[in-house]
Amino acid sequence: MRDTLKHKGKRNQLARTLEAKGIRHQGVLEAIRTIPRHLFMDSGFEDHAYQDKAFPIAAEQTISQPYTVAFQTVLLDPKPGDKILEIGTGSGYQTAVLLHLKTRVFTIERQLELFKKTNLFFKKMGYRPKKFIFGDGYKGMPEEAPFDGIIVTAGAPEIPKALLSQLAIGGRMVIPVGVESQTMVLVQRTSEKEFEKQDCGAFRFVPMLGDKN
Ligand code: SAH
Repeated sequence: MRDTLKHKGKRNQLARTLEAKGIRHQGVLEAIRTIPRHLFMDSGFEDHAYQDKAFPIAAEQTISQPYTVAFQTVLLDPKPGDKILEIGTGSGYQTAVLLHLKTRVFTIERQLELFKKTNLFFKKMGYRPKKFIFGDGYKGMPEEAPFDGIIVTAGAPEIPKALLSQLAIGGRMVIPVGVESQTMVLVQRTSEKEFEKQDCGAFRFVPMLGDKN
């Protein structure tokens, strides 16, 4: 697959759709206009890639809906140079958005098949997260902590304690919490021991899986 003017046109349209749905962050809209989402998906979905919808990728997972990616990124509010931990690399699309915003990305995927596929894809495309590991996101990446931001792209039954402890003071975590459906939660760490939580609406994600499932 290639990236053509036709794709570019569809991306501009998608960015306008997201703007109409309330996304105002210029850097995020610019990322949507720039990143060739169709290349993150199987070729069979090429014609649908710029619809504001989630689609299947490998290992029964999904590439998140563009609105959801934009919404989570706006809540995370990353600044250039920020150290960001991402849980659930999946297709790598959200990773690419974070890289477009010039952050340093550390990302974890627990499905080996997806990890291998996306790792090759990043190399081919020249996307350079600081670290991309195959592992369990519930544990985070303690050796790289603290993080200015943590973004979780799978539905977690509760907020993992390890992730809270890896958030810098002043840092922000965006995580969909819930089993059947999820509430988007923004957690801000205000001091060593204090965290402020805000509910930011209902969403649907594939589950964040633990060691036992
Ligand atoms: N941001 C991705 C979302 C993929 S769906 C994209 O838009 O493509 C969520 C991803 O989280 C899946 O790839 C799934 O395998 C992964 N995941 C689920 N539980 C996880 C865990 N405990 N640690 C790391 N990744 C996990």
